[in-house]
Amino acid sequence: AANWKMNKTPTETKTFGAELRRILPKGRWCEIVLCMPAICIPAGVKALRDTRVSIGAENMYYETYGAYTGEISAPMLVDAGVKYVILGHSERRAMGETDGDINKKLIAALEAGLTPILCVGESLEQRKSGITFEHITMQLKQDFQNIPPEQLRRIVVAYEPIWAIGTGKTASAEQAQEVCEGIRAVIRKIYGARPARAVSILYGGSMNAKNCAGLLAQPDIDGGLIGGASLKPDFGQIVNA
Ligand code: PEP
Repeated sequence: AANWKMNKTPTETKTFGAELRRILPKGRWCEIVLCMPAICIPAGVKALRDTRVSIGAENMYYETYGAYTGEISAPMLVDAGVKYVILGHSERRAMGETDGDINKKLIAALEAGLTPILCVGESLEQRKSGITFEHITMQLKQDFQNIPPEQLRRIVVAYEPIWAIGTGKTASAEQAQEVCEGIRAVIRKIYGARPARAVSILYGGSMNAKNCAGLLAQPDIDGGLIGGASLKPDFGQIVNA
């Protein structure tokens, strides 16, 4: 899954879509998602129609409609052709989004038929203090409040250590595997073995065409959430890896 963040115009989205179409011949066996700014979504949907690439949003609001100036709801995204939505990205948490908000957004996204990509992860201070697992367990427990097991299977979880996002400092394959295994264990504890096996867990944090193979080979890492490296066509190389 690509996370473009606040990059690319609708015109650039059209060009990227045409380039990506040419270099994705082998991506048949995996899901490919481009999460893009809301204004690029119509161009993205059009440029990648009839391919295996789904379009995702980077955020949404939990209410369906009403007096929420500037917000976009889950049914609006669905109507525009969106299949996935990133929720709880650390950049949005840093802007004040709480686990309570993220929980409401998860419920609204699932109700509308979207697949949420829920981001969790620790800061450098939390890692240094040895509270990575405690922090991520707390995030998962709060974000999953009132979400039943049959819905849990439809959520993708992305482990994104904040210290690795956009910094060029990737977590080692062992560090990433250790936390992703821990995330699966938390899900097993709350929901049982089947949902824990079924849930997709992504790693995100400076993943690129060079380092992706080692990370993706880990047993509990099912894919990647890719920021900087998804803006160039070598995103196609990561998909093929
Ligand atoms: C992200 O923002 O989700 C991300 C993983 O960014 P980057 O790949 O640039 O570290």
